[in-house]
Amino acid sequence: MPDVVILGAGMAGMACARTLLQRGLRPLLVAPEPDVASRGETLSFRASPYLERLGWLDLLDAETATPCQGRYSLWGSAALRRDASHQDEQPGWHIDRRRLEARMADTLDTAGIARRRTEARQLSQEPSEVTIALADGGSIDAAYVIDCTGRAAVTAGPDTPLRRLDRLVGCYCVLTLDDDVDAVAATLVEAVADGWWYMTVMPGGRSLLCYFTDSDLLPPGLRKDPGLLGPLLSQTQAIAARLDSLGLDPTASGALIFAPASTATQVRLIEHRIIRAGDAASALDPLGANGLATALWSGIQAAESVIGLLAGNDSQAKDYERRFLEGIASFLTTQRAMYASERRFSDASFWQRRSHAAPARA
Ligand SMILES: Cc1cc2nc3c(=O)[nH]c(=O)nc-3n(C[C@H](O)[C@H](O)[C@H](O)COP(=O)(O)OP(=O)(O)OC[C@H]3O[C@@H](n4cnc5c(N)ncnc54)[C@H](O)[C@@H]3O)c2cc1C
Repeated sequence: MPDVVILGAGMAGMACARTLLQRGLRPLLVAPEPDVASRGETLSFRASPYLERLGWLDLLDAETATPCQGRYSLWGSAALRRDASHQDEQPGWHIDRRRLEARMADTLDTAGIARRRTEARQLSQEPSEVTIALADGGSIDAAYVIDCTGRAAVTAGPDTPLRRLDRLVGCYCVLTLDDDVDAVAATLVEAVADGWWYMTVMPGGRSLLCYFTDSDLLPPGLRKDPGLLGPLLSQTQAIAARLDSLGLDPTASGALIFAPASTATQVRLIEHRIIRAGDAASALDPLGANGLATALWSGIQAAESVIGLLAGNDSQAKDYERRFLEGIASFLTTQRAMYASERRFSDASFWQRRSHAAPARA
C-alpha cells in the first residue's frame, strides 16, 4: 500500500509529487494523459520562490515562458492605463502552460515517479486507509490521498462541496503572429458590458485572446462559430486596436476553446486522510492571475502536511488549512473591489451580479 497517492497532475499535483520525492517519499501519481490545450497564462512573480524550491526555475526558458512587461487595462474608465498594482511588482511571465507542464512532468519521470494513467472515480475512507476506485476498473489503498484534481474536485462530497460563486467561463483562441511582428510582452485587460477580455503574448510568436463572461451570457452559436466574436470585439477599444496593430483576426481562427473559470471555494482542506490542494481546494477568478502560484504553493504545503501526518504530527496540516482559507478570504475581498471599480456598465447583468456578490467567506 503506498503511503501517499496524489490525484491529478496539474501544477498542484506535480509540485506535491516533486516535494515528496525531494523528501525521500515514493508517492503514486494518478492522472489521465494530459489534455491541456496550449494556453497562455500569466505566472505571477510570486511563484518564483516555489519554483526555486522545486528546482524548476530553470524550466522558464524561451520555449516555455516570456518575461512579462507589465499589465495595461481599460477598466473603470475609457482611458488605457498601466495597472498600479503591477507597477511596483516584478511582473512575472507569460507562459505556454502545456509546454511548461510537460517539462515539469519530465523531471518527475527522471526522478522515477510511479504513475497510474487513469482517473479516480470514488473514494471511501476507513480509519487507517483510503480506498480509491479507479476508472480503469482497479482500486488502490493509501494511507493518505492528496486531491489535486482541479475543478473536478473528485473528493468533494455533500458536506464539502466545491461551492461555485458565479458562472464565469473563459472562451479563448491562440493566434499566430507573423514572423516580422515584434509584440510587446504585456498583458491587456479590457472590461465590456457582458464581461472582460484578456490578451497576452505567448512564447513561440503567438498571442492568446480570451473573453470572460457568464455561461448564460454567451452568444448562442459561439461554440461553433468563431465569426460571432466579431460583434463582441466591436464593443472593445484597446483589444480591437491591438489585434489590428498585430494583424490578427480571431474571427478567422479555428474553433474556440471554452474553460470553466468560476470562483469556487471549499470549506475544508483536510478531511481525515484526504488533503486538498490547487483548484480542488478553491479555484480563483483568473482576473487576479493567482491560480498557478497558489497551485504550486498549496501543492508543496499539502505534501509537507502529509509528511507531518505520517509522523503523527498534524500541526503543519492545520497551519496549511488556516493559511489557505485566510488567503482565499483575502483574495475574494480584493476580487470584489476589482469588479466594483468598474461602474460604467452598472445596468448590465454581468456587473450587477458582481456588485451583489455574497460577502467573502472562507
Ligand atoms: C481560461 C483560464 C485562464 C486562466 N489564466 C490564469 C492566469 O493567467 N494566471 C494564473 O495564475 N491562473 C490562471 N488560471 C487558473 C489556473 O489555470 C489554475 O488555477 C491552475 O491550473 C490550477 O492548477 P491545479 O493543478 O490545481 O489544477 P489543474 O491544472 O486543473 O489540474 C488538474 C489535474 O487533475 C486531473 N484530474 C481531473 N480529474 C481527475 C480524476 N478524477 N482523477 C485523477 N486526475 C484527475 C487533470 O487531468 C489534471 O491533470 C486560468 C484559468 C482559466 C480557466
